[in-house]
Amino acid sequence: MYPLKITGARQHNLKNLTLEIPKNTITVFTGVSGSGKSSLVFRTIGAEAQRQMSEMQHSFVRSRMEHLGVPDVDSIEHLNVPVIINQKRLGGNVRSTVGTATDIYTSLRLLFSRVGKPFVGYANTFSFNHPQGMCPVCGGIGQTRQIDIGRLIDTTRSLNEGAIRFPTFQPGGFRWLRYTESGYFNNDKKLADYTKDEWEMLLHAEEHVPPHPSPKWGKTVRYTGIIPRLERDILKKDTRELRLREKEISRIVREQPCPSCHGKRLNEKILSCKIKGLDIADCAAMPADELLAFIRPVKAAGYDTIVAELVKKLQHMVTIGLGYLTLDRVTPTLSGGESQRIKMVRHLDSSLENLLYIFDEPSIGLHPSDLDNLSRIIQKIRDKGNTVLLVEHDPDLIRIADHVIDMGPGSGTHGGEIVYQGSFKGLRKSSGKTGRYFARHQTYNQHPRTFTDTLTIRHAKLHNLKDITVKIPRGVLTVVTGVAGSGKSTLISDVLPLQHPEITLIDQSGIAGHSKSNLLTYLGISDIIRNLFAHANGVSNKLFSRNSEGACPNCKGLGIEKIDLAFMDDVEIPCEVCGGSGFRPEVLAYHYRQRSIADVMDLTVEEAAVFFSELPQLHRHFVMLHDLGMGYLTLGQRLDTFSGGELQRLKLATQLKEQSTVVVLDEPSTGLHPADTERLLALFNKLVKDGHTLIVIEHNLDIIACADWIIDMGPGAGKDGGQLTFEGTVSDLLQQANTPTAVYLRKYLE
Ligand code: ADP
Ligand code: ADP
Ligand code: ZN
Ligand code: ZN
Repeated sequence: MYPLKITGARQHNLKNLTLEIPKNTITVFTGVSGSGKSSLVFRTIGAEAQRQMSEMQHSFVRSRMEHLGVPDVDSIEHLNVPVIINQKRLGGNVRSTVGTATDIYTSLRLLFSRVGKPFVGYANTFSFNHPQGMCPVCGGIGQTRQIDIGRLIDTTRSLNEGAIRFPTFQPGGFRWLRYTESGYFNNDKKLADYTKDEWEMLLHAEEHVPPHPSPKWGKTVRYTGIIPRLERDILKKDTRELRLREKEISRIVREQPCPSCHGKRLNEKILSCKIKGLDIADCAAMPADELLAFIRPVKAAGYDTIVAELVKKLQHMVTIGLGYLTLDRVTPTLSGGESQRIKMVRHLDSSLENLLYIFDEPSIGLHPSDLDNLSRIIQKIRDKGNTVLLVEHDPDLIRIADHVIDMGPGSGTHGGEIVYQGSFKGLRKSSGKTGRYFARHQTYNQHPRTFTDTLTIRHAKLHNLKDITVKIPRGVLTVVTGVAGSGKSTLISDVLPLQHPEITLIDQSGIAGHSKSNLLTYLGISDIIRNLFAHANGVSNKLFSRNSEGACPNCKGLGIEKIDLAFMDDVEIPCEVCGGSGFRPEVLAYHYRQRSIADVMDLTVEEAAVFFSELPQLHRHFVMLHDLGMGYLTLGQRLDTFSGGELQRLKLATQLKEQSTVVVLDEPSTGLHPADTERLLALFNKLVKDGHTLIVIEHNLDIIACADWIIDMGPGAGKDGGQLTFEGTVSDLLQQANTPTAVYLRKYLE
């Protein structure tokens, strides 16, 4: 079989690479963050495979396929059909659940429609998305929304001042005019001063024709109070507006379980159909492993294959470490790692061969003991006759590679080359950062810091937690461990901040902001840089802003033009006028120390630390980012292109205050090469020395080994977890405990 042959790859920082990748093997791509792994694997190989696939499709299908643009590469030969399984969260809305995303709910519906008593309809009608299946009150959502007047109305304002906090009701909006032109109100009167009648008229009046014509339109227009109007026009209909304004709507409503179906989403008739006393919603509310135990013994003459199919799919959920999830869990609440594993479930049975599977750090969110299963699955995919490419930092997964491609040597412009290519054994002898990491001897924290003061979490019962009380030491580095689903995030990210509001929770979620926000605006230092340019050239500092006079007139400062493809993510291409800088071309003629503003935006953090070394107010930020392993980012990089791990580290850089704080981090090692993890640990130690309390949820054994204190959750996942299985120092864990964390850490340190 011919190997995959890539010639002249130059995407982003790649240095005109030519390489071959063997087929029917597992190839792992390693290298420090920013070295070019994603640029090669996703942006070149994956993108080209997808582009060629979509070329073959009918234009309708083509427009639905994910589009990654045309990569900068001379040629790629012997490419296979790609299956790209990335970390992108399974977005979707409340109608998308673990059951629907894995197709397991489809099998369950089929089983109920054949085996359930009484027989009530075809498999389709067991769907909460089907008109004959859904609960008529909530429309299959399981929740009903009620407008929260306190959130919707700001009584300290008048109509003219925007008292109604919903876009189309704001001054100038078309719905706003209906009220201001109704003749019923003094538009400058604060709503707090309304009479009872005015208040009723504004909020609750049923549709009618007012007695007086509008002064502006000269005729009468039908009038309806705000609440019935919002309900009828926006909430009750599945309109385009409902979907577009989801965020704004969520700000003005309260959700409650549907009074009719009590959250089960289905109508009475469908819920009357049962298997062994349970309806289909009861089944969907069970964790997959319990449901498996419930379904396995179901015997129904003639339907063995349906049961077998369902059992097989549920077994996959368990194997892949997701046995603790329920089928009714809505996908937007899943983490990136869980989303990726859900996507994998669909592929485990595929009998298609010769596919090219591409995974993005599949180890995320997994305890070393969960990794064994994942390794087996990936090997099985290969053994079926497929080629697997993994971008991965986790040593245990790197070990399963048939072939390793180590990128580097550094990041950004210092990377983009292949440092080593060959067997895993050979990697240990290579001189790159990855090779050195594997060759070194691993140690653990034998001199943990001591503490006197603690932070106590009392009687935690949320989700799967078993009424536990936990003491977390102050002023040291605590690492919270345990298998996926054991309850780490519930305890630390959900319960702890409820009981101790002084916590600074630094998570991986996106930073709300403009698509023009970039690293500099987030750090709050873009004004300093604009002033440097203004001063050097004797012109206004507004010229150097893409939100102001400096903006390119064509793309309005975005640097890109979006092509709306209706069914899929927009495609972005660089703006033709400014070439992607976002600046008005004339602005680029002004220089500061021989660089234009666009040149400065293109500097990496590492380069900026040198360029601005004499300006401490800038310099210290760049040093901090470099310490967090982000020296490869460019100053102008848009925040919406940052990965979850990068966002979290960026927040860490900016949210720390001078006085000592309690900081919670969830898998901060995500996306970090072991060499970067070492730097992150050094930073943690510095923060603790400065008096901060660090609480870190981690699976990374290098970080676990360095903890002052361990809180180990378990023993299992979901209902089998939720307990404290160990608390103490690493050396006590190693000597006394028999939890999965202790077992794997001992093995790791051997
Ligand atoms: P890795 O996957 O090894 O962490 P990447 O391939 O993501 O590295 O990044 C390699 C280089 O390409 C970095 O300097 C990064 O800043 C740059 N880069 C990544 N994505 C983009 C992008 N969308 N536009 C411009 N540069 C990018
Ligand atoms: P970990 O962080 O150890 O992986 P979690 O705290 O995320 O574990 O999960 C513990 C249990 O709580 C699991 O059974 C999980 O399915 C459940 N759980 C977590 N988040 C939610 C949620 N938003 N809604 C319902 N159940 C949840
Ligand atoms: Zn309902
Ligand atoms: Zn432009």
